[in-house]
Amino acid sequence: MAKYCFGIDIGGTTVKCGLFETNGTLVEKWEIPTHKKNGGEQILPDVAETIEKKLKEKGISKEEVAGIGVGVPGPVRHNKLPFAVNLGWGEMDIGETLGGLTGLPVRAGNDANVAALGEMWKGGAEGKQSVIVVTLGTGVGGGIIIDGHIVEGSHGAGGEIGHAHVEDDIHDPCGCGNFGCLEQVASATGIARLAREEYAKKDPKEKTILEIEGVTAKTVFDAYKKGDALAERVVNRFAKYLGTTLASFSVVVDPEVIVLGGGVSKAGDVLVDIVSRYFRAVAFPAIKQTPIVLAQLGNDAGIYGSARLALD
Ligand SMILES: [Zn+2]
Repeated sequence: MAKYCFGIDIGGTTVKCGLFETNGTLVEKWEIPTHKKNGGEQILPDVAETIEKKLKEKGISKEEVAGIGVGVPGPVRHNKLPFAVNLGWGEMDIGETLGGLTGLPVRAGNDANVAALGEMWKGGAEGKQSVIVVTLGTGVGGGIIIDGHIVEGSHGAGGEIGHAHVEDDIHDPCGCGNFGCLEQVASATGIARLAREEYAKKDPKEKTILEIEGVTAKTVFDAYKKGDALAERVVNRFAKYLGTTLASFSVVVDPEVIVLGGGVSKAGDVLVDIVSRYFRAVAFPAIKQTPIVLAQLGNDAGIYGSARLALD
């Protein structure tokens, strides 16, 4: 019986690696640099090498390993992806390439989807089978799991919650090329955008503790916690965009739980409270009480989720 699996999370600067027991216990985690030169051709050989080294170091034979799961920043379908801009990759068959190098079964997934699987396995949604995970960082990432399986979709675009259209009145483009995506108003940078907009609109006589120079999602939430009226308007706008969008996704997914992660989630319970309020205001009656919770695995969600993927 296989006792171990590997979870590999390939990012633009580092590859996070985890050796797990198949019950989800993390044995050891480490990182190697992502070598992007020559179209990223060295990335998977580097991964294979570090896995071989770890097996030797731990005295683990390949018969004891269920497989390798890999999360990558790109639209993965069936272990393949057409491109991964951040890695310099064109079309890549991760299963075949890394499987060929290691002789182990390989499963690959989009990094945001894989992180969602991690939160379902050992994080904020542990024990659940159907979840929506939204990561509020520099951008807005998302992952949808239904009955224990990642929704990849027909273009690998399943779960791209951050690119739901939510606002007609935005005239600079999102990273995806469209205008008015959720990411533009609900990411850390999006919250700073809303703060600048509300600041420009406010009555000059209104006092605020928010420093608009260098405003961030963190300073907005800090001011909100102190009862600042301007910060309150910003946080309410953000929460309405996010809560309403999550309510729309929830009539498709009908999740057992919704998980909020990423840097913005460090705001904590006040974030959950305000997003829940806007979610419940418009959610379909049968799903109004769907719990919204904070992610728990932080930057390790990717290695947990890819390790879980290896067991599929
Ligand atoms: Zn977009």
